[in-house]
Amino acid sequence: MVVKYKADPAKVIASRLSNPFASLQKIADPFHISREWVRRILVRANVATAAVRVIRLCGICEKPLKSNQLKHCSRSCRHQASIAEAVCSNCGKVFQLPKGQFTARKKRHLSNYFFCSKVCYGQYFGKNYGFLSHPENINTPKRSSR
Ligand SMILES: [Zn+2]
Ligand SMILES: [Zn+2]
Repeated sequence: MVVKYKADPAKVIASRLSNPFASLQKIADPFHISREWVRRILVRANVATAAVRVIRLCGICEKPLKSNQLKHCSRSCRHQASIAEAVCSNCGKVFQLPKGQFTARKKRHLSNYFFCSKVCYGQYFGKNYGFLSHPENINTPKRSSR
């Protein structure tokens, strides 16, 4: 008895091999066959039927994530991910600040100045008062004199 496939098994197998992450249903759809058919074709050809599961890792500790977790495995990892470390421009102390603030400041090109406290902020600009009186610090002349 000749087994009549509705779809070319070779094509079904090729589809599975080129789409390792797709479900059987996804493989089956373009061929207008059932999931069960795909499974049988694959089993007969000794090809893995189950989709390869995408394993995502925690962005901080690199533990595998559960499916309901987005980027981080635990509350502490999430917290860590939202924190950036900066060095105080005044006292040199390493301190933490919310990453949002950190990147926002970088965008505004204020990245060179981070202060662990208002006191340091004040002290720094006090010490460096007259910043612009040093010509070497003015790096964007409006017009080149040539
Ligand atoms: Zn983690
Ligand atoms: Zn400081």
